[in-house]
Amino acid sequence: MLGWTGTFLNIDLTKKKAIPEQYPEALALNFLGGRGFAVKILWDRLKQGTDPLSPENKLIFATGPLTGIGLPNSGKLVVASKSPLTGGYGDGNTGTLAAVYLRKAGYDALIVEGKSESPVVVHVNGKDTEFIDARDLWGLSAFEAEGQLRRKYGRSVGIVSIGQGGENQVKFANVVSQGGRAGGRPGMGAVMGSKNLKAAVIEGTAQIPLADPDGMRKLAIDGYREILAKPQYSFWKRQGTMSTVEWSQANSALPTFNYRQGVFDKAEEIGGFAMEKIKVSNRGCPQCNMTCGNVVKDSEGKEAELDYENVIMLGSNVGLGNLAQVSTLNRMADEFGLDSISLGNSIGFAMEASEKGLINEKIEWGDFEKLKQLINDIAHRRGLGAVLAEGVRAASETIGNGSSDWAMHVKGLEVSAYDCHDAPGMALAYGTSSIGAHHKDAWVITWETKVGRASYDQMKVDHLVEVQLVRGGVFEALVSCRFPNNQLGFELDWYQRYLKAATGKDFSLEQLKGIGDRILTLIRAFWVREYREKWSRSLDVPPARWFKEPLKEGAAKGAVLDLEKYNGMLNAYYVKRGWDNRGIPKPSTLQQLGLTEEAKQLGTYVKLAEENPPVISTPAQNTPFP
Ligand code: SF4
Repeated sequence: MLGWTGTFLNIDLTKKKAIPEQYPEALALNFLGGRGFAVKILWDRLKQGTDPLSPENKLIFATGPLTGIGLPNSGKLVVASKSPLTGGYGDGNTGTLAAVYLRKAGYDALIVEGKSESPVVVHVNGKDTEFIDARDLWGLSAFEAEGQLRRKYGRSVGIVSIGQGGENQVKFANVVSQGGRAGGRPGMGAVMGSKNLKAAVIEGTAQIPLADPDGMRKLAIDGYREILAKPQYSFWKRQGTMSTVEWSQANSALPTFNYRQGVFDKAEEIGGFAMEKIKVSNRGCPQCNMTCGNVVKDSEGKEAELDYENVIMLGSNVGLGNLAQVSTLNRMADEFGLDSISLGNSIGFAMEASEKGLINEKIEWGDFEKLKQLINDIAHRRGLGAVLAEGVRAASETIGNGSSDWAMHVKGLEVSAYDCHDAPGMALAYGTSSIGAHHKDAWVITWETKVGRASYDQMKVDHLVEVQLVRGGVFEALVSCRFPNNQLGFELDWYQRYLKAATGKDFSLEQLKGIGDRILTLIRAFWVREYREKWSRSLDVPPARWFKEPLKEGAAKGAVLDLEKYNGMLNAYYVKRGWDNRGIPKPSTLQQLGLTEEAKQLGTYVKLAEENPPVISTPAQNTPFP
């Protein structure tokens, strides 16, 4: 096999064994890598109904056929598992040298299962794997743990680790690398913690097998040059995603006070230009020349890394308008290994609960000291922090009193940083995202603003599906960053040429989208398999707040989503995907995608249907955890 190493490394933490496995070429050709490998492995090897925090769950670190090659934006891996936060498929991608060295060690993926008796670090060095006692690292932040490991192993290794959030199995703990690159929002860090795995250190020196190494070298140089020459490049380097703050404010999409307003009176103070005043450098993923991590000095004089999502969720959504303080909260989130989006969302929920007198704790909007304390309490599961550590869906079930209407999640994953009172297309993107309410697969809101926010039409459905197949399917399977394409206009045919040079095979754009469709459909099948009789189309409906409570401020004041029209769009979405009107893939769709065996297996858990059975739609929050 060229392009792929053709090998996975299976690690059993209970038995302290590492066993390489040659996998068939058909798997690579049908699923490419990254998210594609992850969902196929979970589907085939994870028993239905597995407790996500049990030793039986699998934690997968998966690369793609372009990973580790000196190409633009290819230094990433996908970390995936059955999610303890949502009970469905969970993953995230993160830029890390661990991705590069995993491929140089000779592997396309690590598949970790079991549980170590005591804290452990796995050290993969080419063909050798050792299990190192990590009791001295347990209790340290992700930064401290990586720092110690780097001092021991040097610069030529990749390291992923968890902080106290992962150790304490906070349901939205993530996996951290290189002082602030983090991934795996739906609790991949908690899964790692449940296995007593503090960190993985990966090194290797093997050549990645390529079909055309010389051609690849030239293509890589040309690609970097092309990115540098894009008109938006210099502004991107200045602000990265931060300029979205001003855009969201102008377009009533800025989550504020737990998604009540869409605008924030201190937006300018936490926006892209304010950030430039405290910025000290750029940081980024390996092999990237767009380095979008904005490194700033925080309120304590320490370095923190900012982007749009983390600034908004720990800024306007919790009523905090001081960027240096927002930076401190973000650094804390990274050190503890907590997903900053879910963290800010959960805290916004708690602040509203406090305001409404539903909890005893008094937490004022924007109270910096209380925010710091609460983040600490969540990471260590203390007091109210223990309730919020379960995520907003579970917290709203605990608090009750109608709070599920304003617990801002889809399928248990907290909504990321776009208010959708006035954006039905983006609401549908959240509703149908592969992991719950995340924007990565289909960030369509700026496009939707150009074509008109008000409509609920077929054009939006068609565009959404197209974007999901490319970004959620192709890019997540290649494990290549989507930003060159969607921010700077780096054309998709570059990736076809890269694939040809890596694998020797021609992939048309339609074939790649077909692979994306296969992956996203199998992810949907996985959700349905895990939820079984609790699966319902209401899981694809975003939070009730957006349907019931009109925006109170801003240009779109009074805007609210229409549930009936949303359901119409959802029906059209299902038709487009070949799913029935419960959101379950039809047998014929699964077969067309080459998922015939999977169709049979899914059919043993739920009744599959070619025709649409009758359904009832309700907002998502009423759906209990499976
Ligand atoms: S653009 Fe940003 S997220 Fe993408 S690879 Fe570069 S640093 Fe990483």
